Amino acid sequence: MSFSGEVKKELCEYALEEMNECCKLAECYGALLMGKSFSSREIVFSTEYDYVSEHIFKLFEDCFGEQLFEKQRSKSKYKLVITGADKIKKVYDFFGHDKKQLNLRINRGNFADDCCLPYFLKGAFLACGTVTDPNKNYHLEFVIPFMKLSQDFYKIVTDAGIIAKTVVRKGSNVVYIKDSENIEDLLTTIGASRSTLELMSVKIQKDMRNKVNRQVNFECANIERSVKAGLVQIEAIKLIIKRQGIDTLPEEYKELALLRLDNPEMSLKQLGESLSVPLSRSGVKHRLDKILEIAEKLKK
Ligand SMILES: [Zn+2]
Repeated sequence: MSFSGEVKKELCEYALEEMNECCKLAECYGALLMGKSFSSREIVFSTEYDYVSEHIFKLFEDCFGEQLFEKQRSKSKYKLVITGADKIKKVYDFFGHDKKQLNLRINRGNFADDCCLPYFLKGAFLACGTVTDPNKNYHLEFVIPFMKLSQDFYKIVTDAGIIAKTVVRKGSNVVYIKDSENIEDLLTTIGASRSTLELMSVKIQKDMRNKVNRQVNFECANIERSVKAGLVQIEAIKLIIKRQGIDTLPEEYKELALLRLDNPEMSLKQLGESLSVPLSRSGVKHRLDKILEIAEKLKK
């Protein structure tokens, strides 16, 4: 199951008996208004998950005391459809909408109490929200067909303290969240705490992996640098041997040069420790630089 599917499953596990009446209505409103269609011609809630469809079906019956929906099935979608002027008028009147209204707007009167707003967002997420698997990407979005409706919705999301952005994609208005913290906030707000924990744990694992990778890259770069430096030193030592013989070097330089020649992989610290009279890292570097200088002169 996709991460979106998991979140929605969690959201549908809530027992209706434990919800406030006002919150049930707010969730129902979010699901219908932000669903596939909320027009005076038809009201359609569409989802790819059977459990979401069942949940909304029950929620609606609970709110209205009767069932106006017709269940439909097309390809991979489960649809709940309301047609017929009388039934639609009932729903419109119930939520304080006027079928003459030109632009579909959000009627905040349907979630007047503080307790209700999260449920409106939850209903909206079940209707038009998706969230990407955090292993791939941090992205949560609501795809909304109408400009004014999406502007109202954006305001509600940001009023809830969540940082979101908007974009128009293929004629649809998208309200989206791109960072893990605000995604966590939204999921927690709408009641998907289990999914939030999963997202957080994925994030921690990812951060750890990145940290380890950075450390490994850093060490590899260091090793590569010292190996390259060692090779340059060996070239210089070989040149000195060939041109003027190793014995032309002062004794303490000679010992270091021969040690380096035999141990191309040794770090400066290790070289210093292996000398008959141990020498610091910087002392070794100083002598090796001198050897390089001598070889440099020989090249001219
Ligand atoms: Zn409420």
